[in-house]
Amino acid sequence: MAETEKKADCIFCRIVAGEIPSTKVFEDEVSYAFRDINPQAPTHILIVPKTHIESCAVLGEENEALVGKIFSNIAKIAKEEKLSGGFRVISNSGDDAGQTVHHLHFHILGGKEMGEGLVP
Ligand code: 5GP
Ligand code: ZN
Repeated sequence: MAETEKKADCIFCRIVAGEIPSTKVFEDEVSYAFRDINPQAPTHILIVPKTHIESCAVLGEENEALVGKIFSNIAKIAKEEKLSGGFRVISNSGDDAGQTVHHLHFHILGGKEMGEGLVP
């Protein structure tokens, strides 16, 4: 099962539950978006599902509606944050990608020109 309600030792589950403070940007019934604690661009937001899912690697058909909703929420957030010049969405999945928090999340990065390269 890719999705569980909450994992007690997961930082992002604890942020969603309000146990760890965060700067909220957006929330709906399935997702929560907040500012990254260590921003790597003028605008750096994380959007996460409210349920615990490890990463993109475990997604299946049962998560399709959720992921679709998250992406339409990303478009809303980008508009609200006035990222009309463009923005980048990244989801690190697993060790080779440098995933440090093992709760599915999408980085929304913008507010500066980032160039064409994806991998530093
Ligand atoms: P990853 O490397 O797993 O793709 O990204 C994890 C992100 O979560 C990092 O950009 C990191 O700065 C952010 N992060 C880690 N802990 C916290 C926290 O407690 N609060 C917030 N707002 N962001 C966090
Ligand atoms: Zn979690």
